[in-house]
Amino acid sequence: MTGHQSTSKLASRGLKPTAVLAANRAHGERIRYLGGCRCDACRRANTDYERARVKARNEGDWNGIVPAFRARTHLIALSKINVGRRAIADATDIGNSILHEIKTGRRKNIRARTERKILAVTVEMAAPRAMTDASDTWKLLNELLEKGYKKYQIAQKLGYSKSLQFKRDLITVHNAFKVRRLFEKLKATGFADAKPAALPKNTTSPKRGMLVHRMED
Ligand SMILES: [Zn+2]
Repeated sequence: MTGHQSTSKLASRGLKPTAVLAANRAHGERIRYLGGCRCDACRRANTDYERARVKARNEGDWNGIVPAFRARTHLIALSKINVGRRAIADATDIGNSILHEIKTGRRKNIRARTERKILAVTVEMAAPRAMTDASDTWKLLNELLEKGYKKYQIAQKLGYSKSLQFKRDLITVHNAFKVRRLFEKLKATGFADAKPAALPKNTTSPKRGMLVHRMED
């Protein structure tokens, strides 16, 4: 869009063509390159940008705009096997209304990360009460325990009022999923809250949940 016609079209809509925006910028900013400058600094700025984009894409963390149809197809397939939108919203942290817009086709484009999250929702979630081998779940739980988390802490984070009551051999798909999600979440924070905070001065805790303050005489 560098021709005279498109420039005046943009101008008539109150939009500034790139060349105008670029004119006020220093050389070495990518917008200046987009505005047409091919000096060394501007070319380098553009190359750096392209390189970073390719790198991010290769690392799978690219978050540009993609058409929504793949996510839409996946959402429709999931709904056919009775994976509800709420379960998907829980699993992906994507808002219900956005999921709805994608599924109905009202939203045509989405972020690449949103797409990846939706495509990652698996058929397993179709039957949350189905039982599955618990050994993978226990591997994760044991790792959390080794990091210093207490069983009651983990239970709390999973939303259970009591302590962990998982069996060793079998676990529901839903609980296995919840544990994995919690594990990933804690891992992302570097297991920062694994060690319980130190007790206040002059305080002992003879029993979990009980604090005894020693009086000074
Ligand atoms: Zn330049």
